[in-house]
Amino acid sequence: MFAQIIVDVPTMQTNQPYTYAIPDKFVAVVEAGMRVVVPFGKGSRQVQGFVVGLQDDYHGEVDLKEITDVVDVAPVLNAEMLELADWVARENFAFKISVLQAMLPNVMRAKYVKTVQLRDPALLETDAMLRDFFTDRFEVPLDDNHVTPEVLTALHKYARLGQVAINYQVGNRAKIKLVTAVKPILSAEKYDEIRQGLRPTAKKQARLLTYLMTASPNWIAQKEIIDATAVDYTTLKKAETNGWIQKGEIEQYRLPKLTSAITATEPLPLTEQQAHVFTTLSENLTDDAKSQTYLLEGVTGSGKTEVYLQAMATVLAQGKTALMLVPEITLTPQMVRRVKSRFGEAVAVLHSALSDGERYDEWRRIERGEARVVVGARSAIFAPLQDIGLIILDEEHDASYKQEENPRYHARDVALWRASYHRATVVLGSATPSLESRAHAQQGQYTLLRLTQRVQTQPLPPVSLVDMRESIKSGSDDLFSNELLEALRQRLARGEQSVLMLNRRGYANYVSCRDCGFTPTCVNCDLALTMHKVTNSLICHYCGYQEPIPKTCPNCGSQRIRPFGAGTQKVEAMLKEYLPTARVLRMDQDTTRKKGATDGMLEAFGNHEADILLGTQMIAKGLDFPDITLVGVLNADTTLALPDYRAAERTFQLLTQVSGRAGRADKPGEVIVQTYNPEHYALRFAQTHDYEGFYQYEMAIRKEWQYSPYYYTIQLKVLHESQTESARVAYEIADWLKPYLDLQTVMLGPSAGSVARLNNKYVYRIVIKYRQSAKLFEALDELMQAGQRLQRQKVTLLIDRDPVNFV
Ligand code: ADP
Ligand code: ZN
Ligand code: ZN
Repeated sequence: MFAQIIVDVPTMQTNQPYTYAIPDKFVAVVEAGMRVVVPFGKGSRQVQGFVVGLQDDYHGEVDLKEITDVVDVAPVLNAEMLELADWVARENFAFKISVLQAMLPNVMRAKYVKTVQLRDPALLETDAMLRDFFTDRFEVPLDDNHVTPEVLTALHKYARLGQVAINYQVGNRAKIKLVTAVKPILSAEKYDEIRQGLRPTAKKQARLLTYLMTASPNWIAQKEIIDATAVDYTTLKKAETNGWIQKGEIEQYRLPKLTSAITATEPLPLTEQQAHVFTTLSENLTDDAKSQTYLLEGVTGSGKTEVYLQAMATVLAQGKTALMLVPEITLTPQMVRRVKSRFGEAVAVLHSALSDGERYDEWRRIERGEARVVVGARSAIFAPLQDIGLIILDEEHDASYKQEENPRYHARDVALWRASYHRATVVLGSATPSLESRAHAQQGQYTLLRLTQRVQTQPLPPVSLVDMRESIKSGSDDLFSNELLEALRQRLARGEQSVLMLNRRGYANYVSCRDCGFTPTCVNCDLALTMHKVTNSLICHYCGYQEPIPKTCPNCGSQRIRPFGAGTQKVEAMLKEYLPTARVLRMDQDTTRKKGATDGMLEAFGNHEADILLGTQMIAKGLDFPDITLVGVLNADTTLALPDYRAAERTFQLLTQVSGRAGRADKPGEVIVQTYNPEHYALRFAQTHDYEGFYQYEMAIRKEWQYSPYYYTIQLKVLHESQTESARVAYEIADWLKPYLDLQTVMLGPSAGSVARLNNKYVYRIVIKYRQSAKLFEALDELMQAGQRLQRQKVTLLIDRDPVNFV
């Protein structure tokens, strides 16, 4: 037998698998989707690889090397995942190995110790070989050198049946958690008989026996028995000695915790609009024959989430599974709670705040079919769910669905692929769909569904734009207009809540000299340094470089070097001055760094422990609190200034999202947006909540300037420590590419990146806008291979398809 293997050798990547011989001892074990260790190159270098296929014969010339070792006893990736990895790699100019690794939880990528855990102790009674292997333990190290092929084959078989599990432990981080457990081993009649024969004083034993009579013959956590019967450890010990029970250990999942208990909720009766959407979705949800994608364009507060939940319930009832993606920052406890309150234990949650151990546990619950609903951020799209009936992308326009490092996949594309594989339904939901998705709906590739009204009869809140240029002329400072302060005062007086958004972080954005205009920049990146008051330092947000805030200007010696712009801490300080009685809760990357901090803060806000929630854009999404009647945007313009053709779209989306936090229940809301560009169309359309108007207007601009969705984009980046070398390679690539571009294809650059230097490397960019891809993609595939050679010369080449970020 022979195996095709994708090996993990940095700088020597290829998407062609290598063929290796499978030694006899592994023939019964090796399957596609397992990881193995193989020799690679000259010498005896051992590397890890993924088995992606098996074959009976080999007719090549060379003598094949043999697989040295198997890492997994059962496949960690199934046939769907292997096929998907091929596709993701091909579509995104990525190497398969990076995709395969991205599909697995972290802990399985790092160095680890492997153990075998006995999940079904009954095995020991039937299999003497296993009894020897486990002796009297429930989890033993799996050291491949000491395991006979027979045992390995047996473990492989039992792993498939779920009777043993292979665990990966990195230090202590991903150790599975075991608790002492008890298993009833006698029949109910027998327990009854023993109980009849007890002395009348043996009350504890009697209680235990009564409990055991009705207990199922499975492992029960010892603590659970003690809680239920109020017996003590001695009683249980005695019961074991008497041969009434068996003692052992069972695994306890580390479930991500929420601060308060979840109460179950029932589906709500749907509004007329919701019901219409749900009925339309149901046609495909109950149809096994085809996959269909729906774009759900629903204003904020229109009850999209309720529709998602009921659609999920529909597929679960058919025995299928459901996957719901949300952007990382909306994966708030509020959202998790809403899903868990409906589906309870069946829900697995995957997001970046989980420890590796928690993530690994959730992954296994999904893989074992114990969790049939997955809620997660971008990478959860690779959750090993089987028989998927429904995939939801909430806030489908969100830029975080695109991974910004290798493999640069877009979760929306992967969702469509998986849905087509499972013939499942896809729902893309947003109040402000991406232009790409909305255009797809226009052309009929997606079915457009709309929710135009809020659930509660409240209309969308009126939005007023405050021109800060006028405001400052009439004496206000550059942070708070009189209009906004007045509105905040009103809310305080009425005991209502306000949300204030500032799209920035730190005390102030940057410092500059008032005399000569000098601004300290990063020594690695040519980017303005961001000021952090707490540490009294200037920090580069790209590379992390830090230096103290200078007291005098390094350029001209002036002492008038001051902060420019404002961060959340500054705004908080100003609020205290203007509104001394207001209780302000500040939510930004600094205050939410600690695990569970966001959860606690939102709960406090929900309990009216604060009047004003002040934060960066992380507060723009998902918050659903009935008493928020005012939303203030302190500076709407920062996103307009991004060097990106999506700047207007991003601004419109952000303003619409944050406006949606106001007036969600019975009290009417109001939104005040402070800006220096009140005429800008993105603000105008946001003011009237006019998504369709914005869509039409922006599409005309995109067409004119040949941007997405009319043209696709590829961005190439070349990075090197020397600027000349970086430029030279970029020009060489551009020249090489030219013959592959057809007449409709436009190549921009090479040009220095808008951030010219990152992490001490000079960036040159080439942007290709195209409509036809066949020839271009062939060329890019070749470039990708060439990138491996360049890497050895310390030149990095990045190929980014449909980039969402042009910095
Ligand atoms: P969206 O996700 O579209 O912004 P939500 O799903 O958060 O909207 O719904 C807004 C509010 O309306 C939530 O508090 C939700 O519980 C409530 N809601 C949704 N659907 C219904 C319904 N059919 N009946 C009553 N309340 C509903
Ligand atoms: Zn100066
Ligand atoms: Zn830097």
